[in-house]
Amino acid sequence: MANSKYGYVKNFELPDPVLPDTFMLFRLDGHSFHRFLNSLAALPRSDANTRFTDVHGFEKPNDVRALELMDHAARSVMEEYPDIVLAFGESDEYSFLLKRSTSLYNRRESKIVTTLTSLFTSCYVLYWPKYFPDKPLQYPPSFDGRIVPYPAERHIRDYFAWRQADTHINNLYNTTFWALVQQGGQTTTEAHATLRGTFSKDKHEILYSRFKINYNQLDARYRKGSILVREEEPEVPEAQSEARSEGQAPEGPMTETMTASSTDATPSSVVLTEPAQPKEKK
Ligand code: ATP
Ligand code: ATP
Ligand code: MG
Ligand code: MG
Ligand code: MG
Ligand code: MG
Repeated sequence: MANSKYGYVKNFELPDPVLPDTFMLFRLDGHSFHRFLNSLAALPRSDANTRFTDVHGFEKPNDVRALELMDHAARSVMEEYPDIVLAFGESDEYSFLLKRSTSLYNRRESKIVTTLTSLFTSCYVLYWPKYFPDKPLQYPPSFDGRIVPYPAERHIRDYFAWRQADTHINNLYNTTFWALVQQGGQTTTEAHATLRGTFSKDKHEILYSRFKINYNQLDARYRKGSILVREEEPEVPEAQSEARSEGQAPEGPMTETMTASSTDATPSSVVLTEPAQPKEKK
């Protein structure tokens, strides 16, 4: 086939390598998880029931099942691709950091983006029933994906700080918003109006004085997102390894483990120092 007279069309395919010696940051995000979907024209249309999150009954402000499903899909992607060393998830998005030296698919951008995005998506669908046993998928969800190459560790640290600040700002807003609606009896329009122009300290105050909610005691998963870290177990010196081989020492030269964390875990075991404290947007 390759040598047929038609083969020349292959020359229209241009190479799309990601810049060498840069960190690839791959991020995917649920498509229209909140906004309306054109393909839902067949379903009854109203503000409340044509969003992925509403159609599937996501709890507000945070549906823990959906977050755990995202973590599960992300873990599967990391298991398949050993060059991913760190991942961070919040809401309907996940970010994956690839080793600077990775030669995955010869660093072809579209190959990496499409393959990882579709693997994540198919895992999300495959594992859906485990997290939503009583809520079958109503239509096939999709995710968008992109890669941004970053030259320095500083950029990577700031990247994750940026996403985590986003998690914090959105969660503080959403938590206060839904407290006003669900416990304060406000309409969504009234709740938006109540929060207009408020600073972070005002939201903490509303939560505490009106609803007895201490924001800092909410689940860290909601406030800070989820982190998956690939940890390389240090190589055991041969003598020690022989001594331990009678016991339960792991086989093989190096085992990698991943830890899912919604706590204050920092990815320092990989390439990063502690993420900066999220700065609150005023
Ligand atoms: P786009 O296609 O541009 O990404 P979108 O509608 O998905 O559009 P996002 O900015 O990605 O817009 O917002 C995702 C929406 O899904 C937010 O409103 C967020 O609150 C909601 N969402 C995502 N995950 C959860 C969850 N686990 N629980 C509750 N709501 C969630
Ligand atoms: P890459 O990831 O680069 O695409 P690949 O292994 O998928 O690698 P392809 O060139 O896409 O390589 O080849 C697809 C393979 O799957 C071929 O060997 C093809 O014969 C086989 N295949 C695909 N669809 C079918 C099918 N319907 N029935 C039988 N074999 C199939
Ligand atoms: Mg988006
Ligand atoms: Mg989205
Ligand atoms: Mg999003
Ligand atoms: Mg193929």
